[in-house]
Amino acid sequence: MFVNHCTACDQKMLIFPSQVTGMAQIDGVTAMTYTCWCGSEQLWHNGTTGGQSEVAAKPAAKTAANAA
Ligand SMILES: [Zn+2]
Repeated sequence: MFVNHCTACDQKMLIFPSQVTGMAQIDGVTAMTYTCWCGSEQLWHNGTTGGQSEVAAKPAAKTAANAA
């Protein structure tokens, strides 16, 4: 589950695994296509050129919480 800004409805939406239509890993970058709540086909990726996408659950944050 992750949060992404939809370019069609211009809102930050929570995306569930059931909405993901495809996934690929290219050069260490994970890319996913999903269908937004508004019905638009969108692309999410964790590449460095994004800037408008963010992952909801970050493993690093969990590790920090456990250490504290
Ligand atoms: Zn949308």
